[in-house]
Amino acid sequence: MSEIPYKIYLNEKEMPNAWYNVRADMKKKPAPLLNPQTLKPMTAGELEAVFCGELVKQELDNTNQYTEIPSEILDFYKMYRPSPLIRAYFLEKELKTPAKIYYKFEGNNTSGSHKLNSAIAQAYYAKKQGLKGVTTETGAGQWGTALSMACGFFGLDCRVYMVKCSYEQKPFRREVMRTYGASVTPSPSDTTQVGRKILSEHPNTSGSLGCAISEAVEAATNTDGYRYVLGSVLNQVMLHQSIIGLESKIALEKYGIKPDIIIGCAGGGSNLGGLIAPFMGEKLRGEADYRFIAVEPASCPSLTRGKFAYDYCDTGMVCPLSKMYTLGAEFMPSANHAGGLRYHGMSPILSQLYDDKLLEAVSVDQTSVFEAAVKFARVEGTLPAPESSHAIKAAMDEALKCKETGEAKTILFGLTGTGYFDMYAYQKYNDRQMTDYIPTDAELQESLSRLPKVG
Ligand SMILES: *Cc1c(COP(=O)(O)O)cnc(C)c1O
Repeated sequence: MSEIPYKIYLNEKEMPNAWYNVRADMKKKPAPLLNPQTLKPMTAGELEAVFCGELVKQELDNTNQYTEIPSEILDFYKMYRPSPLIRAYFLEKELKTPAKIYYKFEGNNTSGSHKLNSAIAQAYYAKKQGLKGVTTETGAGQWGTALSMACGFFGLDCRVYMVKCSYEQKPFRREVMRTYGASVTPSPSDTTQVGRKILSEHPNTSGSLGCAISEAVEAATNTDGYRYVLGSVLNQVMLHQSIIGLESKIALEKYGIKPDIIIGCAGGGSNLGGLIAPFMGEKLRGEADYRFIAVEPASCPSLTRGKFAYDYCDTGMVCPLSKMYTLGAEFMPSANHAGGLRYHGMSPILSQLYDDKLLEAVSVDQTSVFEAAVKFARVEGTLPAPESSHAIKAAMDEALKCKETGEAKTILFGLTGTGYFDMYAYQKYNDRQMTDYIPTDAELQESLSRLPKVG
């Protein structure tokens, strides 16, 4: 066997030319989205009022294993893909572990994360349908940046509703989006009905993702030639992100490597869903076995402490209901929670896999995540995004378990992005002012008690 390099790069011809749809191999399919008024499954026609047609097809497709990647998207991918699969030799040495650690690095583009993989696909289909523009929300800012880049490339208008506290805390994120041609509005705003309503009830609110989603959906449905796009949670996004797992699998197979454990951070579930997709497919078809671990913040623990139920995806309750692990749409993670991963719900696909015990989940607290991030940055060089650092922390924990047992397991984790726009959080950590806040059972009970009553 040839020696394993520090970085395994595929060449462009080795890139996958189709996305993989894990739903095709799931025995229990994720539950359908429901119309919030009638509580009946959303039809393609209803969904097309909000999303563009081709993406609705992908959203509802539970049967086709593969969807060809259009050549325009593949060409764009080539600007920053294939992304490297890195052997964490330095981290292994630092931990003195017999484990072999690999990470797939998705931060190598200006948006700084994996979100561009789906942004370019969604912008492409919107353009192809002849739309004028799209609307979306952004919390931490990576999705808005990725979408601005994608829309800039295809000449589409892009209107981003940015959660107000991020808008104020991350002025440079906002400026990157404007540079790529997007317009950025702090949310809640007075440009939508739902925004005005929230502002009149809570004039001093610093906004939330759920509220920004409602504003973006309203703006899309009220503007001719516009549709709404979303950066995570939805089935179509999991499909696009399968490129991460497909590339990882090809790279590993080149060297005859089979991972034992695959780990990813989970906010809405898109990077984890994409990374594990082809491996989960093998597990579902009984061809191979792997352990899959979702890592979430202890301050927003949808999988580990949430409920598997239908819930609203947004605060204004304009979006379809989704069956997922949720903390309740009104759950607000504590303000001291620094990184992303603040969403109350989780991808319906991952929720179903977790409920079927095919996927494990752990939660980690914020200060230990930053401790792991700093260790990683110092030995592996890359300054990780706080979100990605949740996966680093869990991978390090697994590697340390191997050190105790003497097992040389192979661990693969997703390094979803870089943390250059998160220096406010790093500053808090460096100044030792970072704290942990873990919601109490009573607090979770409070938001869970307001789940919609469905069936
Ligand atoms: C958005 C984001 C995440 C979390 O989103 P998922 O949909 O769960 O993948 C993780 N890491 C980075 C860098 C992000 O930008």
